[in-house]
Amino acid sequence: MEEKVKSDLKKIFGFSQFRGNQEPIVDNLLKKRNTFVIMPTGAGKSLCYQLPAIVSEGTAVVISPLIALMKNQVDQLNAIGINAHFLNSTLSKSESNRVKSEVLKKKTKLLYVAPESLTKDENVAFLKEAQISFVAIDEAHCISEWGHDFRPEYRRIKSIVAQIAPNLPIIALTATATPKVQQDIQRNLQMEEADLFKSSFNRPNLFYEVRAKVKNDSKKHLIKFIKSHKGKSGIIYCLSRKKVEEIANLLKVNQINAAPYHAGLESAVRIKNQDDFLNEELDVIVATIAFGMGIDKPDVRYVIHYDVPKSLEGYYQETGRAGRDGLEGHCLMFYRYEDIVKLDKFNKDKAVTERENAKLLLQEMAAYAETGVCRRKFILNYFGETMEEDCGFCDNCKRDRETYEGMDLALTALEA
Ligand code: ADP
Ligand code: MG
Repeated sequence: MEEKVKSDLKKIFGFSQFRGNQEPIVDNLLKKRNTFVIMPTGAGKSLCYQLPAIVSEGTAVVISPLIALMKNQVDQLNAIGINAHFLNSTLSKSESNRVKSEVLKKKTKLLYVAPESLTKDENVAFLKEAQISFVAIDEAHCISEWGHDFRPEYRRIKSIVAQIAPNLPIIALTATATPKVQQDIQRNLQMEEADLFKSSFNRPNLFYEVRAKVKNDSKKHLIKFIKSHKGKSGIIYCLSRKKVEEIANLLKVNQINAAPYHAGLESAVRIKNQDDFLNEELDVIVATIAFGMGIDKPDVRYVIHYDVPKSLEGYYQETGRAGRDGLEGHCLMFYRYEDIVKLDKFNKDKAVTERENAKLLLQEMAAYAETGVCRRKFILNYFGETMEEDCGFCDNCKRDRETYEGMDLALTALEA
C-alpha cells in the first residue's frame, strides 16, 4: 500500500493504525477488486470505503439505508474537511441540483445515496455522466430476505450499477451475515468471485444471560439488576412503544434515572433523551429498536432485552452496543415462549414467504433462549463460526444449579 494512504489515515482520520482487516480491505479496493466485508458493528467498516474514496480519483457512491445515518456520516466527513454529500428524498430540487453539479465538477469524494434515489431515472442518467471511483453498499444484508432488515430496493442496486458504468468495483459491507445471507448477497450482486474479508463475531467481553420472564417477578429482577449497576449506562429494549413507556415509568418511580425512546415521541423529546443518555445525564434509556443505529457510546455496561427480539441477528446487533470500550458488558434477556408466539402473530398479514422467513428467525431466537449449551457458541455458530471450547462467560457456562437464582426455564415452560 502506498505511504500516502497510511499517512492519510493519520492525517485525515487521526488514527495511528488500521484495525483488524481494514488495511487489506482498503488495499483490495484500491486495486479495483470487488470486495465483500463482514465485520461486527463498531469494528470500523466505514473507513474501509471512506479512505479509498478520498485517495481515489472521482466520486465514490455509498449506498446506505437510513437517511439519519447518511446525514450523520456526511456531517462527520465534512467536519474533517472532506467534500461529501448525500442525495435522498429530504433534498429539494435545487439542493439536489447543487449536489449534482459539485459531483460533476469532480469535487465530491463521497456521495451517499439512498437506494430509492439511486433507482430514479434522472439520477441514473446523472451518475452515468459523473466519474465514479467505486460503489460501496453499506448494510448489504438489506439485500437478503433472509436478513433481519430486508429492503426490496436493495435488490435493484446491481442492475443500476451496471448501467452507470461497466466494471465498477463494488464493496459490500455488513455486520450481519449468516452463511445464508452472505450467499444471497453475493448472488444478487453477482460477486461470487469477490474477495471476502470476514472478521470474527466473537465479543469476548460480553456476558450473555437469559432469564425466565415471569410476570411481576421479572420486573423486580429488572429493577434489582439496574440498581446493582448504579451510575452505569444501560439500554433496555422493549418491543412496543407502550411497553417502553410502561417500563420507563416503572424505573422512574423506583428512583432510577431513566427515560424512554421510541418513534412515537416528539422528535425534540427523543433527541433530548438520546443526548442526555450520551452525555451521562441519564443512566438508562428504555427503547424500541428505533434506538441505537449509529450510536457509538463506548461505556454502555449492559443491554437488557425485556422482550425477546425478532431475530438472533437483531439480538446480536443490539447487545453489541454494550462494552464497546472493551470492558465488560452484560447482555441480559428476559424470555418466555408466549412472546415468540405473539411476535409470530404480528406477521400474520405478511406474504407467505416473508411470514415463513420471519418464523424461522423467531424459531432460531427461541432455540437460543432455551438452549443449555454455551451461548457464545450458539451465537457464533449461527454466524457460521465454530468455537472449540465453551466460553466460560455466559450463564450456561457459569450456571451453578444451587446458586442460580432459583429460576429454571423448564419450570416456567411448565407454568406457561
Ligand atoms: P461499523 O460501521 O463497523 O459499525 P464504524 O465505521 O461506525 O463501525 O466505526 C466505529 C468506530 O470505530 C468509529 O468511532 C470510528 O471512528 C472508529 N474507528 C474506525 N477505524 C478505526 C481505527 N483504525 N482506529 C481507531 N478507531 C477507529
Ligand atoms: Mg456502519
